[in-house]
Amino acid sequence: MVATFWGVRGSIPTPGYETSRYGGNTLCVEVGFPAAGRTLIIDAGSGIRRLGDDLLRRPAPAQGISVDVLLSHTHLDHILGLPFFQPLYRRSTRLCTYGPAASAEDSLEQAIGGQMSYRYFPVRPVELAAQITYVDLREGALELGDGIRLSATYLNHPLLCMGYRIEYGGRVLCTAFDTEPFYNLFITDPADPRYDEAMAFEGEQAAQAAAVRLQNFLQGADLLIHDGQYTEQEYRAGRVGWGHSSIEHAIALAEASASRRLALVHHDPMRTDDQLDDLAERYAGLRKESGVEVCFAHEGLSMGL
Ligand SMILES: [Zn+2]
Ligand SMILES: [Zn+2]
Repeated sequence: MVATFWGVRGSIPTPGYETSRYGGNTLCVEVGFPAAGRTLIIDAGSGIRRLGDDLLRRPAPAQGISVDVLLSHTHLDHILGLPFFQPLYRRSTRLCTYGPAASAEDSLEQAIGGQMSYRYFPVRPVELAAQITYVDLREGALELGDGIRLSATYLNHPLLCMGYRIEYGGRVLCTAFDTEPFYNLFITDPADPRYDEAMAFEGEQAAQAAAVRLQNFLQGADLLIHDGQYTEQEYRAGRVGWGHSSIEHAIALAEASASRRLALVHHDPMRTDDQLDDLAERYAGLRKESGVEVCFAHEGLSMGL
């Protein structure tokens, strides 16, 4: 497997001279399987536009481009690039889209199609020439063929959001964005008049169980691509519940799950290249202690595993 980053930014595209080195495109990771001739794309943020153009430049198979797109969730920053993915306008393209469906009434196809409403975008889904199929995912595992195994698990985000585990040729690639640590949903402060000891205890148990489940899901990843939008200090200063992790949490989870390498993504849109460089330097000590190889992913970064 080869993971290539086409977009690493969170929340909103941030073009400009201050973000040109890490890149301003929102999330899109290509996972290539050169031996099997397969391409899998995780998330369709603005980074997918350039990936689409690149796919069209590559020697095309006679039957046309065939890709699988795994969507972590349908927040706009993770799907807004899809209408600009040029292979969609070729009749020979086959695109299979996987993602979590919020409910039976709100399918993945409706969520994706919604942004292509004529009100927001001049091309309607029916005008896309490609053969597009949608697969509503639940937690579990499925075979994608050619020995590629996909597992999905729910993360902790304000919207239903999936983490993925891709296994191929004895190697493991995992993704966990957008997500934050599982926390107790009940009132934990005994001074609060609404505090209920039994409920607080139950909430604590549930949060711990969910954390262990995720850690097991990520176990032994050769590469973990994880949300690292904030520093722990930023996260604690009023950002709990926003659905994103601190760099410290991502490193601790990579270590606990015995992951070999950690690539941090979903960089805060406020963060400049220089600030990301500073963070990379600041966390250099932490990564040495943990034994996990950590990097702040940038556009164009390719990692073989
Ligand atoms: Zn996001
Ligand atoms: Zn999100």
